[in-house]
Amino acid sequence: MKISHIEHLGIAVNSIEEALPYFENVLGLKCYNIETVEDQKVKTAFLKCGETKLELLEPTCPESTIAKYLEKRGEGVHHVAFCVEDGVAEALKEVEEKGIRLIDKEPRLGAESLHIGFLHPKSTIGILTELCEH
Ligand code: ZN
Repeated sequence: MKISHIEHLGIAVNSIEEALPYFENVLGLKCYNIETVEDQKVKTAFLKCGETKLELLEPTCPESTIAKYLEKRGEGVHHVAFCVEDGVAEALKEVEEKGIRLIDKEPRLGAESLHIGFLHPKSTIGILTELCEH
């Protein structure tokens, strides 16, 4: 597996509307896209920071995994997404062979039409890890 860069950091927020002024007015980053991913029950907002993006995640209903995360741990960094050059399917297979527990056995479609796959934080030093490709 070859990782080219950190594609984005996922940040759990209670409200995108309330969180955006910090990122835009204080940090000076620009939000260029807001998108709801129905099957993950999240609304996402994307900001560019060089090659890396910030992905703000707001739950759209109480059953959302982000809602449960916020309840337990509050707002903050939720996951780290690495861009892999040789495909998510291959990368998932490779890390599973190395004993890593997977959340996604197969790549699925995420926000911004990325192919994504999550690794379980129990086997990734507590960091919810996303592998993705464009
Ligand atoms: Zn993500």
